[in-house]
Amino acid sequence: MARMSAVNIFLRVAIPSPLRRCFDYLPPTAYDLHTLQPGIRLKVPFGRTTVIAVLLAISNETDVPRSRLKRVSEVLDTTPLLSRPLLKLLMWSSNYYQHPVGEVMGNALPALLRQGHAPELKGEPAWQLTNDGRALDSSILKQTQHRAPRQAALLKLLSAAPDTAVSAQYINAVQSNWRPVMRKLIDKGWVVVTEHSCLLPLPVNKLTTAPQLNIAQTEAIAAIAAGLGSFGVHLVDGVTGSGKTEVYLALIESVLARGQQVLILVPEIGLTPQLVSRFQQRFTVPIAVLHSGLSNRERLCTWLAARSGEAAIVIGTRSAVFTPFAKLGLMILDEEHDTSFKQQEGFRYSARDVAIKRAHLDDLPVVLGSATPSLETLHNAHQGRYSRLVLAKRAGAARPPDINVLDVRKQPMSDGLSTALINALRRHLDKGGQALVFLNRRGYAPTMLCHDCGWVAKCRRCDANMTMFNGNTRLRCHHCGSERRADSCCPDCQSSELRPVGAGTERLEAVLKQQFPDTGIVRIDRDTTRRKGAMQNLLDSVHDGSKRILVGTQMLAKGHHFPDVTLVGIVDIDQGLFSADFRATERMAQLLVQVAGRAGRAEKPGQVLIQTHHPDHPLLQILLHEGYAAFAQAALEERRQTQLAPHSHMALLRAEAVDERLPLQFLKHARQLAEQLGAAFSANFGESRVQLLGPIPAPMERRAGRIRAQLLLQATERAALHHLLEPWLQQLESDKLGRKVRWSIDVDPQEMF
Ligand code: ADP
Ligand code: ZN
Ligand code: ZN
Repeated sequence: MARMSAVNIFLRVAIPSPLRRCFDYLPPTAYDLHTLQPGIRLKVPFGRTTVIAVLLAISNETDVPRSRLKRVSEVLDTTPLLSRPLLKLLMWSSNYYQHPVGEVMGNALPALLRQGHAPELKGEPAWQLTNDGRALDSSILKQTQHRAPRQAALLKLLSAAPDTAVSAQYINAVQSNWRPVMRKLIDKGWVVVTEHSCLLPLPVNKLTTAPQLNIAQTEAIAAIAAGLGSFGVHLVDGVTGSGKTEVYLALIESVLARGQQVLILVPEIGLTPQLVSRFQQRFTVPIAVLHSGLSNRERLCTWLAARSGEAAIVIGTRSAVFTPFAKLGLMILDEEHDTSFKQQEGFRYSARDVAIKRAHLDDLPVVLGSATPSLETLHNAHQGRYSRLVLAKRAGAARPPDINVLDVRKQPMSDGLSTALINALRRHLDKGGQALVFLNRRGYAPTMLCHDCGWVAKCRRCDANMTMFNGNTRLRCHHCGSERRADSCCPDCQSSELRPVGAGTERLEAVLKQQFPDTGIVRIDRDTTRRKGAMQNLLDSVHDGSKRILVGTQMLAKGHHFPDVTLVGIVDIDQGLFSADFRATERMAQLLVQVAGRAGRAEKPGQVLIQTHHPDHPLLQILLHEGYAAFAQAALEERRQTQLAPHSHMALLRAEAVDERLPLQFLKHARQLAEQLGAAFSANFGESRVQLLGPIPAPMERRAGRIRAQLLLQATERAALHHLLEPWLQQLESDKLGRKVRWSIDVDPQEMF
């Protein structure tokens, strides 16, 4: 084995730090060259501490004078934690999104590995009922209760979760000194000890089978399955209820049959127990679910199970796109238009675009599914970069809903609801249907106004109005989270005529209670679903029919299946029609179509009513009369004429500071630097130079006490933009002004503030 001296070997590593660069180190004093492979972790001195770094490359050269190089203190792994393709993907992401490589690596490693934990988990013992234990009849339970109450208590605890093994930590919280008691239950054959695992329990048999697929589904499956084993992006463009999920399930079946793994990425709100159980009921393979609620141990466990190949299916939100796999065969991104796939802070990556890059590097297909594809994706499909498979009709017996606009100009309204909408609600409820009332604004009212002098309650730290909530007793700012009791009289004129203006979901719920006192009403928004399990309880009350009116925000728009909902009322879409953000109409259209899709999902026909003050808005007209595809076509044409994304490539430099002059000053300086660099580049890129727009104050200039501004970069050639970004950000990072403000770069920004 080669034992070499450390002459001329330098280790290039990624350090968890906000600096946009790699660092070089000398190898440890004694080492085995074979273990020094990119992707292993190293302990290295950094500043005054020691940190855990990831080895990126081994080099014979360095720019750092030898005397200043430090030595690696410890090699932590004998085999790479991150495979070469995954490492390549991470390096690409760091470069594309111009985010520090150390932080990007950190995104791909579970916290325990970042802290130096070994890449293994010893299974913890856990206890679970046996089939006999589950089948105990009540007379035996009664006897046990009588003679051995401590045994009975443990049985009760385990039967609360009959399919899950319960850990010692959990039992400790309920009973002390319980191990001898548990042993008695094991002796009786009622309980077994298993290992606590992060994988979902395996069903013994497939619980459901696929329906007879229709022609559109069969064709889509055949087209995608033909491309298994090589790169390709496939858009499954199918109306809600058209059977997209059935297409995914059939494809997964083929991939599993090839002995490969599948990654399914879903939006944050889309990761529901219903969705997971649909997969669980169809496949008898180990499934892992990755979401933000996992403990560090569970996260590591899942990571290891995917990497070893044990987890055949991984279902996760955005960050799961960086999960390592032994033999990945397919990626599926459901609801690809969803904004939660783009991380909006720190490392601002798009999981969709990273997934596509990953598919390219790993040579495998990726499926993007949506009823309302993003304009970016449609543009790519039109250009022939993605294949497009259309499912135009609802599957099975369900029919598309009937959509109508309610022109509410000059109409009598009670707290946001028109008489026409209330009458329609009554009709549907009388016929035994359920109704969904949608408003994308939570709280009681978005504004509190003094009726005598016009004073409006504003946030003290943001340029924003306070939202009233908890009836009209409290005020909250949805931008910085600050809260206070609602004023009882006007601070300007001392009048007590303070009134809520406009309506949020809380107020709608109150009005509906007055209008329909005998009907169960449930509200689903971030305020009512904060507690764990709350969402499920609320949904259950809809499914069991005890609640018949649902009021809610966009949390209702995704994935939920309400077979008895026959009426969807959309209370206010006007905000989406007139916003400063050029993507607002696209989002409005997507939300509208998704919410409308909740109506009439089963055999019962559905109706959708949309309240608006702008019934003649051209994009709304196209959407309603010609559908989403025609809307998207028109919107894309508008983007082409105005040279906005996806017809140009964008990056947004944002800056904020407490000192109100600094952000603009910094961005002006940044613009000058970019212009100088641009002049140097223009020889290479000729006409397709990067345009600099701004700097301008952010649409909401003050937020959480800081002043914010932004500079937009736009280019018709992506390469021109990326050639500029790297040297430019290097300059900004070492710039004096740059240290006085908080700044960040957002490549392909989804929100323009
Ligand atoms: P999507 O994901 O496009 O919203 P789903 O796959 O969830 O659609 O299908 C909607 C409903 O129609 C589900 O209840 C599903 O079981 C059912 N379904 C899907 N495909 C078929 C089919 N070919 N025949 C009958 N029912 C189907
Ligand atoms: Zn007043
Ligand atoms: Zn605020």
